[in-house]
Amino acid sequence: MNALLSPVTKVKGIGAESSADLQSLHIETVRDLLEHFPYRYEDYRVRDLSQAEEGEKITVIGTIYGEPVVRFYGKKKSRISVKIVVDRVVVTANWFNRPFLKNQLQTGREIMVSGKFERSRLQLSVSEHHFMDAAKTKEKEGTIAPVYSTTASISVKQMRRWIRAALDQFGHDIREILPPYLLEKYRLMSREEAIRHIHFPASVEDGKQGRRRLAFEELLLFQLKMQAYHAVNRRSTDGTAMPIPMDKIREFVHSLPFPLTRAQRRVAGDILKDMQADYSMNRLLQGDVGSGKTVVAAIALYAAVCAGYQGALMVPTEILAEQHYATLKDLLTPFHVEIALLSGSATVRQRRDVLAQLQSGMLNIIVGTHALIQEDVYFANLGLVITDEQHRFGVEQRRILREKGLHPDVLFMTATPIPRTLAITAFGDMDVSTIDELPAGRKPVETYWVRHEMLERIFAFIRKEVDKGRQAYVICPLIEESEKLDVQNAIDVHAALNRYFTRAYQIGLMHGRLHPREKEEVMEGFNRGEIQVLVSTTVVEVGVNVPNASVMVIYDADRFGLAQLHQLRGRVGRGEEQSYCILIADPKSEVGRERMRIMTETNDGFEVAQRDLELRGPGDFFGTKQSGLPEFKLADVVQDYRMLEVARQEAAELVENEAFWEAEAYSGLRHYLKEDEFFAGKVRD
Ligand code: ADP
Ligand code: MG
Repeated sequence: MNALLSPVTKVKGIGAESSADLQSLHIETVRDLLEHFPYRYEDYRVRDLSQAEEGEKITVIGTIYGEPVVRFYGKKKSRISVKIVVDRVVVTANWFNRPFLKNQLQTGREIMVSGKFERSRLQLSVSEHHFMDAAKTKEKEGTIAPVYSTTASISVKQMRRWIRAALDQFGHDIREILPPYLLEKYRLMSREEAIRHIHFPASVEDGKQGRRRLAFEELLLFQLKMQAYHAVNRRSTDGTAMPIPMDKIREFVHSLPFPLTRAQRRVAGDILKDMQADYSMNRLLQGDVGSGKTVVAAIALYAAVCAGYQGALMVPTEILAEQHYATLKDLLTPFHVEIALLSGSATVRQRRDVLAQLQSGMLNIIVGTHALIQEDVYFANLGLVITDEQHRFGVEQRRILREKGLHPDVLFMTATPIPRTLAITAFGDMDVSTIDELPAGRKPVETYWVRHEMLERIFAFIRKEVDKGRQAYVICPLIEESEKLDVQNAIDVHAALNRYFTRAYQIGLMHGRLHPREKEEVMEGFNRGEIQVLVSTTVVEVGVNVPNASVMVIYDADRFGLAQLHQLRGRVGRGEEQSYCILIADPKSEVGRERMRIMTETNDGFEVAQRDLELRGPGDFFGTKQSGLPEFKLADVVQDYRMLEVARQEAAELVENEAFWEAEAYSGLRHYLKEDEFFAGKVRD
């Protein structure tokens, strides 16, 4: 029995009541307590005064010199000052609201004081003090003291005492789980040392090394789990090995109105290879907006159909479903593929018919929203599932999908370029194919950032483009708290544009409150060019493809994430003409202004994503909790990205190594894997 798994009450000083308090911090076992790491330190080490910087918090030892002076302000406020000689320098130490100290501050007494030091005036605001002649030296003095997150009923001091007691009693039970070669290669402390040092470092460097070891372990374990999923999946032969007739695929590719880019060929090759193999494909297809992912999806779907299987394409919105359905129909109907749309606006009867055809195998391909997987939809022979906008999917949803009946090949597409550090964290268990090239001849979209007062000129600019036969999108602010306000905004802007254009052109209005039927009509009108200007909330965000549109105006652009702005911008620049993106924003903060500048400086989605990540951190990057990003205790995927790369590399090598799955030396790591039920029965002790 592992002693670290004992309840925390085994630690001296922790009783039933304290343990109940600790439970609210998710601390139940000794191990939980030892792994409750400090989030920062207080530095109480005695310093040389000459090294202190202006305003820095320092700890010094000195001798009291002269009488303390107390001053009262109003009823309760007071300040007591006394001179202290430190290294032959006279410093004035000040305490606030502690007049009772007067009798203790006797001249000649030695005292240690910590506080903020004002170098220019030789003043110190004391936050803590200790008389050197006092009997008991408090534990934190002269040290770097850890600061922990606690609850109202647990003080940081108490937490320090408990953790120290836990280390004294159980420190020697902490076992190493990393293999020795990794410790050596990266000069890492042992697990026990690291845990001791992260809590009570002897020096700043010590604490850093402790943290480094433990953060590495955290990243390695996470990557190991991801890579092990991948390896176990690759080894299992429960996938469908599709016999794909390559000549038919080539014929289809030749029928396309354009040659594929080199990147499209390469990723299509990756995908077809996975489909032909007897493991289930688990692949992420990423590429910047407009890089041509839809055609690649069409090739994969056609391949599945030629091999005798059915395919499903799932997308996040109805509009996108319509759009993909239309595209696929154009491309695939000439090749005798039966394809249907499972739409929210279908009648009960239409829906029943589609489902029956799907179950009988008459239908080859179905397109719908993500609700497709949750509902009672049965397939005759599902071989391939493609889902678009994958980042809205967590790890769990991915599993549900795999567990639904057969073991189809799964391809996830994302139009949001994901910085590599996040991609290997959120999607570390998947293979990744990237389309890193745009079709030839695309003109980069020109992006401008303007203030609200320029509205008249923006309208005039829209008119100029529309006069030339182009079309424009006008996207209205996103106010997350209230869909109603969003809609009202769009309605107001629509009215303003109608007044401006005095009905010379058709101004369409699109928002989430419209009936699916109405949305469809507006979209069709815009597709056919009967509507010249489309005012919309963000429902057009993803995937809409109208190559004649050349202007994208975005109101209150600073309310959007950069990835989303880039998505919206990607709706234009799809045709021959020069296109424009106009961001209307008056950001209040410097970060806000920097974000607008980034958009005007680059058209590269991966660069936008990387800079956004650096600016806002990983939590905000995906914008939702459903990002599939794990929460690390110590590691920071942005700051520790180098370590993340190394951990990923090492994890990949580990799972490739037969010894990892068998040898005693790796049982600590395997044990960790087995805490996840997916691996129970698949991994030995
Ligand atoms: P996204 O990757 O954003 O989903 P799409 O698949 O919608 O991009 O493609 C954007 C546009 O580019 C479409 O109009 C599509 O027909 C066109 N396209 C795709 N591949 C090529 C290519 N190799 N050459 C020229 N145009 C292409
Ligand atoms: Mg797309």
